Amino acid sequence: MRGRSKTTELPVLSERYDTVRHEIMAALKGATLTAKNISSEVRITEKEAYEHLEHIQKSLGGVHGLLVITPAECKKCGFIFKKRERLKKPGRCPVCHNEAIKPPAFSIE
Ligand SMILES: [Zn+2]
Repeated sequence: MRGRSKTTELPVLSERYDTVRHEIMAALKGATLTAKNISSEVRITEKEAYEHLEHIQKSLGGVHGLLVITPAECKKCGFIFKKRERLKKPGRCPVCHNEAIKPPAFSIE
């Protein structure tokens, strides 16, 4: 006989995920934060912060608010990464190839 399932772990994980997402959304209302700010605020990695931000951007959809992005900027020549679709910080400047990039910042309006 088989089929006895013990899949009680996933719901817990997804609950934790939702909680973190709500914490991030609360933090972004009334403040402009980078992924690094968010990661220290809710104790997750920067990579996770970006994943949550992507999810938040989709779930808000302009109905419950809007994820406002202050684009990344090259610290050397001032190039602004306006057209960038992905949220993550770019690796280097396409104009001067400098790798010192001011990361994008996020808020919810
Ligand atoms: Zn540059």
